[in-house]
Amino acid sequence: MKAWVMFACALSAAALVRADPSTYADADFPHVRKFDAHVHANADTHVFLDAARQDGFELLSINVDYPDFPPLEVQARIAHALQAADPARFHFATTFSMKGFGGADWTAQTNRQIDAEIRNGALAVKVWKNVGMVEKDRAGHFIMLDDPGFDGVIAHLEARHIPLIAHQAEPKNCWLPLEAMTTENDRSYFRDHPEYHMYLHPELPSYETLMAARDRFVGRHPHLSFVGAHMASLEWSVDRLAIFLDEHPNAVVDLAARMTQVQYQSNADYGKVRGFFMRYQDRILYGSDLTEEPASAAARAQNPPVEPGAFRHEADAFWRSDWTYLATAGVQHIDAIKADAKGLALPRHVIDKIYYANAKRIFERIAP
Ligand SMILES: [Zn+2]
Repeated sequence: MKAWVMFACALSAAALVRADPSTYADADFPHVRKFDAHVHANADTHVFLDAARQDGFELLSINVDYPDFPPLEVQARIAHALQAADPARFHFATTFSMKGFGGADWTAQTNRQIDAEIRNGALAVKVWKNVGMVEKDRAGHFIMLDDPGFDGVIAHLEARHIPLIAHQAEPKNCWLPLEAMTTENDRSYFRDHPEYHMYLHPELPSYETLMAARDRFVGRHPHLSFVGAHMASLEWSVDRLAIFLDEHPNAVVDLAARMTQVQYQSNADYGKVRGFFMRYQDRILYGSDLTEEPASAAARAQNPPVEPGAFRHEADAFWRSDWTYLATAGVQHIDAIKADAKGLALPRHVIDKIYYANAKRIFERIAP
């Protein structure tokens, strides 16, 4: 018995110095194929592309009808130029305007514009939180994602296997006062964007109303390839997100700008959060929400904030921190939750799916 104990101790000591072959290390980061499924390349430079090349990423840059971003036609022009510069590494998603929604021409015109951008190389379509939170119909009611006015466009996406990347609502923190929010990145975003801080706007649709409309929408379109951006706005609870994924086999989620929420939860229950990633390893896409903005005094901070001129360094540091958390058991300090977080040390085959294979499966099915 004693000899066995000594043998076991010798084994674990050796394991400490030998790399675990079932997981990656920090040193593997630049060499493993990776796909960041949620970025915004809004500047007409090659800085983002260079950062991705250096760190072994392909990028999906998502165009968004967002007043803080350049106009849609400028976003599209930048996407076309970057894709032409490196078609194997740079990909993009198009979007549509809500102008004229409900009018006689909106569906046909939107489908034509989507088809034109698919011909230009777009791999998906984005719908943003202005649906549910900003846009109103002629009667003054908020237009929700399950509005029948979208049906003609959604049927078109289904028929062509074009994924819809949907960002509805906000992190649940958005409905709380600043001091009650669980992460600093949410606190700073909503301090800078009081117009989107729903705690200040009780007259606007509630979190539950927005989630219910989104869930009805996904349920009504079972053949749509649905990508719930930002953990489908269920970032606060892996249990709640698991229910969503179980109820909607056609849905996957990206992790963009919500890793601190995951870390907040794994600090409370490490086994539960690691178990979630293991169970849903085919349904999760790595995404950062890194945003390169053109130098403009009018542009406000995006989430996460990126200093102009230091973008390459910021992207590298952000991507490496997420890698350490997901791929290794390394402990790092996370400023946004004012705590250390231990990495999930997901097995290599799971990391390969979350960081690459799942995105390839979802985004490369478009029918001619
Ligand atoms: Zn984004």
